[in-house]
Amino acid sequence: MIQKFIKVVFKDVENENETKKVSVILRLNAIIMFIYFICILGVFLMTGERASILLLLPCLCAYAVAFYTTYLNDTKFAAFFSVFITVDWIYIFIRRFGWDCGIQHFIFVLLVLGFTISYRKLPWKVAMSALACVFRLILYAYANTNEPFTALNQKTSTVYQIINSVFVFIGITGILAIFTKASMELEQTLVQYNEKLHKLASLDPLTGLLNRRSMREYLEKRIKAYNDGHVESMALAIGDIDYFKKINDTYGHECGDIVLKRLAALFTECMEGKGCVSRWGGEEFLLVFRHMNGDEALIVLNDLNRKMKKLQVAYKEERIRVTMTFGLSEFDFEHGIDYSVNDVDKKLYRGKEAGRDRTIY
Ligand code: GH3
Ligand code: MG
Ligand code: MG
Repeated sequence: MIQKFIKVVFKDVENENETKKVSVILRLNAIIMFIYFICILGVFLMTGERASILLLLPCLCAYAVAFYTTYLNDTKFAAFFSVFITVDWIYIFIRRFGWDCGIQHFIFVLLVLGFTISYRKLPWKVAMSALACVFRLILYAYANTNEPFTALNQKTSTVYQIINSVFVFIGITGILAIFTKASMELEQTLVQYNEKLHKLASLDPLTGLLNRRSMREYLEKRIKAYNDGHVESMALAIGDIDYFKKINDTYGHECGDIVLKRLAALFTECMEGKGCVSRWGGEEFLLVFRHMNGDEALIVLNDLNRKMKKLQVAYKEERIRVTMTFGLSEFDFEHGIDYSVNDVDKKLYRGKEAGRDRTIY
């Protein structure tokens, strides 16, 4: 039962350009005010203020309607209605019971409500705050110059004051709790969305490897760390698939894509914990060997090459084998990325000229 009710209160809005946050705040405010008027009803019944009881019934109805309006998919109307009835009852109650009962403090609830449900710009909200202040001052001036219609007896007045104070706090806390929760959720979503965007922008969509841009960022970070005193040896290799065009021409582009994906998976597996691999170009891969000199990187690369030679990529009835040519060098931290990449590129070119399927170091 309680769970069902919570579900109803937190029900999402159906309209795309409306927000759940505003509706939930308005619903919670309506519930709190409904409970408030029930409490006041109890107090009036117990203390014999029967003449004022009739005044409470329209208030109860008004907040029940305010609750209902939040399901009409017109948040603006629901917000306007809630603000309108709050201003009205505060005005009527001050006239009736005077200033001493503390009804005017509900203007603060009204202000918090206005700030949290409005998407208007800040100057508008400041103007709204000024208006609330003016409203309070007018009420004060009125209450100062006019006797209340119904002077509550001392006992009722005291209990009424206490209830008002408690409900002002409950109202403000309730509204701010929903607002804060919604803001934190929004922040979380934005962070996740940013992470997703960053991932999308830094990965090659076909192979899932780092793309050229993020590999450059990775190398720049290594250089920065090196310059900051984290000296390490690092090696770099560029590999290019031999006669890849032939694979495309013979079996089709789709098959070429499958080969690229399969090789990317093999590289990722072989480079795990040893460095980083990226898709540098169409069928070119750039590998970074961390904490390794050229000789150590050559051992890893030879191992990778052995595994690649054993690899048969299944495509329809075919079993496709590939070889690659690599250029390998130690990374030159002094001369930077372009210098080092150029160096391995030249070696790769020499390897192609020398007949392919080899590593030039
Ligand atoms: P070499 O041994 O000299 O490297 O010969 P090659 O045929 O591999 O070299 P070439 O540069 O002539 O051809 C590279 C081919 O790679 C051409 C291009 O169609 C193909 N290619 C590049 N990117 C992709 C891709 O994402 N998918 C597929 N299927 N093919 C690609
Ligand atoms: Mg090639
Ligand atoms: Mg190429």
